[in-house]
Amino acid sequence: MSTITASQEQHVVEQVPKQLYIGGQWRDGAMGTLSVEDPSTAEVLCEVADASVDDAKAALDAAVDAGPEFAAMAPRDRGEILRRAFELIIERQEDLATLMTLEMGKTIKESLAEIAYAAEFFRWFSEEAVRIDGRYAVAANGAGRVLTMKQPVGPCLMITPWNFPMAMGTRKIGPAVAAGCTMVVKPAQQTPLSMLMLASILEEAGLPAGVLNLITASSSGETAAPLIADPRLRKMSFTGSTEVGRKLMSQASETLLRLSMELGGNAPFLVFDDADVDAAVEGAMIAKMRNIGEACTSANRFHVAGSVIDEFASKLAAKMGALKLGRGVKDDTDVGPLIDDTQRTKVSDLVQDAIGRGAHAVVGGQAHDGVGYFYNPTVLTDIPDDAELLQEEIFGPVAPVKGFSGEDEAIAAANNTQYGLVAYVFTTDLKRALRVCERLETGMIGLNQGMVSNAQAPFGGVKQSGFGREGGYEGIEEYLETKYVAVNL
Ligand code: NAP
Repeated sequence: MSTITASQEQHVVEQVPKQLYIGGQWRDGAMGTLSVEDPSTAEVLCEVADASVDDAKAALDAAVDAGPEFAAMAPRDRGEILRRAFELIIERQEDLATLMTLEMGKTIKESLAEIAYAAEFFRWFSEEAVRIDGRYAVAANGAGRVLTMKQPVGPCLMITPWNFPMAMGTRKIGPAVAAGCTMVVKPAQQTPLSMLMLASILEEAGLPAGVLNLITASSSGETAAPLIADPRLRKMSFTGSTEVGRKLMSQASETLLRLSMELGGNAPFLVFDDADVDAAVEGAMIAKMRNIGEACTSANRFHVAGSVIDEFASKLAAKMGALKLGRGVKDDTDVGPLIDDTQRTKVSDLVQDAIGRGAHAVVGGQAHDGVGYFYNPTVLTDIPDDAELLQEEIFGPVAPVKGFSGEDEAIAAANNTQYGLVAYVFTTDLKRALRVCERLETGMIGLNQGMVSNAQAPFGGVKQSGFGREGGYEGIEEYLETKYVAVNL
């Protein structure tokens, strides 16, 4: 795509329905509206509806009412709706990408990649809808039979973050629709536009009224709490920070609500002395710079064997330093802005803390001057053990590089975190690769590659990165209950 014009920007924003979507109707929010900002200019793009607690309750009522009929819909028909929605997303990907870039900041190329990834969940789960089965077995004593069936869990609440405004939605909506569940979806207030477009695409694709209800709200805690406490809600799937995940989990304990938690990360990126250093640098650029470093899967710290650390750090710094910052809608931009000033200040504070304790900035090391929330791509070396960024999710374009002297030390450093989402391992020794993969305490590993996201694969973490899996064969199981029937013949 070439650089987007101002009138194209205006056109895609105008196309978005800006109301709440409840029971198949678009309606205003009782709290008025909330503003959506372009992080590259700090200017308001538009206003969208702001839901009240009563609006949120109406959304759950609609999901509950639509539940039984949708659960009984033929799986093939549910799958066809997802398939049509997949096709509509691909057909409109350029406009959707422009919209995503405007509200979130990443480049058009990255938005197109997210849209392809997001759409893929609908295609994958359109195929999974017709593969829901149970089992039939002869009981061990030969007398009875064991019969199991899979049924939709029921109404779900889905809460999503701002960093992947569409894919974090389709990763939940796809399997829920395939399984026959109804839902209330609440996107992050900073990036509601992509999800509003997604709701209108699903409506156009024939999703029955009440199956998906979308609320946008400025007070997420207040609107979500009564839904979480409502015994008619059967499942909550949350993607966001570990801190908010903990709060939601404690609220959910009252009704023993079934949960999926896709939380924060602190991914280690290990480069062993036998690695192909150029391939590791390429992988590092993807693992670090995808989504401007604002991904739960972002490589947060680079642990590099002493014999190759200088080569790795200087090659990485050369590539990071050559990146061009700018508005994501411009075709020569490599790196967009961070989401807001709070996020940029957090990144800045972590870098200053590391430098204050003795780290050295090979490139970058400070915020970028001018409008928008830009931060210069940064590579830090000589990282002291007590630097906060070794423990905290940076969520920005900052790569701390730290040395290690052997496999045990590398693994101990990698596992020295409360998080356990993903790790990256670069080595050309197969035995070492498998040994290290077995010992890493993460839900996912990129082996000689800087990206793991794939609709076909089970995405999710261990430790305080959460539990549950999205995508793959496992993804639909999060939205299914297993019922066992003991059969007396
Ligand atoms: P966040 O602050 O936890 O917010 C996530 C969502 O939760 C937003 O929709 C937010 O609404 C809502 N929320 C906040 N407080 C709430 C409350 N008390 N009750 C109900 N909902 C509440 O996270 P974020 O800053 O948007 O996203 C970044 C985080 O997400 C990072 O930690 C990242 O690692 C994680 N993440 C994880 C994955 C994964 O798959 N593991 C994927 C992507 C991102 P508001 O917008 O209104 O605050």
